Amino acid sequence: MPFIDLKAQYAALKTSIDARIQRVLDHGQYIMGPEVKELEEKLAAHVGVKHCISVASGTEALLIALMALDLQPGDEVITTPFTFAATAETIVLLGGVPVFVDIEPDTCNIDPKLIEAAITPRTRAIMPVSLYGQVCDMDEINAIAARHGGLPVIEDAAQSFGASYRGRKSCGLSTWGATSFFPSKPLGCYGDGGALFTDDDALAQAAREIRVHGQSQRYTHTRLGVGGRMDTIQCAVVLAKLERFDWEIARRLAIGERYQELLAGLPEALGVQRLAVRGNRDCVWAQFTLQIEAREAVFKSLNGAGIPTAIHYPRPLHQQPAYERFGRGQVLPHAEAAARRVMSLPMSADLSEAQQDVVVAALRQALQQHVARV
Ligand SMILES: *Cc1c(COP(=O)(O)O)cnc(C)c1O
Repeated sequence: MPFIDLKAQYAALKTSIDARIQRVLDHGQYIMGPEVKELEEKLAAHVGVKHCISVASGTEALLIALMALDLQPGDEVITTPFTFAATAETIVLLGGVPVFVDIEPDTCNIDPKLIEAAITPRTRAIMPVSLYGQVCDMDEINAIAARHGGLPVIEDAAQSFGASYRGRKSCGLSTWGATSFFPSKPLGCYGDGGALFTDDDALAQAAREIRVHGQSQRYTHTRLGVGGRMDTIQCAVVLAKLERFDWEIARRLAIGERYQELLAGLPEALGVQRLAVRGNRDCVWAQFTLQIEAREAVFKSLNGAGIPTAIHYPRPLHQQPAYERFGRGQVLPHAEAAARRVMSLPMSADLSEAQQDVVVAALRQALQQHVARV
């Protein structure tokens, strides 16, 4: 059983993916070909915003978003310590200072109640992450940003593309939405890719220029930029995958819901804590993640039983060698506890009920073994 079943997805979409790629090979416009604009238009419509700018990766999306906001050395950006390193990495690459704020223990997303206390005169932006595919508390975060001089808010939506929040879509909820098309994300390509979303014309224009080395026109470098374009072939792959994306989202929601129900059926003594999904939003389960005290032992048994699992993430950023200097010795108890307890189970739109039952049976057995031993 694969952790994420990209082969089944390809088998289902082979005709369109192959044809879309072949079309690019035929026209030969590998950089900024017609598929780039077509994809940007479709994605902007999907999210419900004016502008979509495709870029080379999710990391590049975050970097370009911050560059378009003109982040300067020493500027502080409030973010979560419980995320993939790329979130904070982009801040540090520009000389900025990530300011880590602890998470809610039940959703693992940044706790908005703790943000205001972290704001200083140097704060330039807030960068929350919609972890595991559940949009963070965007209304609360936007309200805090508005109270503090209209701070920009960048949603790191690398894991939440397709998710809804109060009837609106992830990526369209704040100044910037930034997502990734890394193959294992809810909407993936066959290499690296990503996209930025905004309603702000000036920011969109800035990002389009930064993506091509800061050019406002050919060989006029108005600003500092990067080589940040998404390949035409990767755009073609995403276009083909969009054909059944709504079906995939519906499947992901249903599979996630079924996992949650199966986990609720486990004896309480086995100590499984499910992720809390707030009532006004859904979770597209980029990873299906749960928390257990006996994580290390259970993780080993499951892998021994041939059930692929993963840990997102084993160490919070304020305790990582490259970032601990920004943590200033902070103790962030919920992020640290989550890092010790989280475990992700196989998840993809093509996961069958039979496969899910096998996973949960193996989990139950591993938990029972461990609980018997202690
Ligand atoms: C995957 C991911 C990124 C980076 O995306 P890439 O396309 O791999 O560069 C950033 N933030 C989060 C939360 C991610 O999961």
